[in-house]
Amino acid sequence: MTKGTYSQGKKSRGKTHIRCRRCGDITYHKKRKICSSCGYGKSARMKHYNWQKK
Ligand SMILES: [Zn+2]
Repeated sequence: MTKGTYSQGKKSRGKTHIRCRRCGDITYHKKRKICSSCGYGKSARMKHYNWQKK
């Protein structure tokens, strides 16, 4: 029972990302307090890359 992906079961413990109040995605980091999608908490402006198409 120590072979394979048994440790994957611990993945469900806790949430790292919660819903961002600005972009609405589950990309707001609970501990870092930064949204990885729009940059909320880090900068007032929306995070964007020129390879992003919207
Ligand atoms: Zn966001």
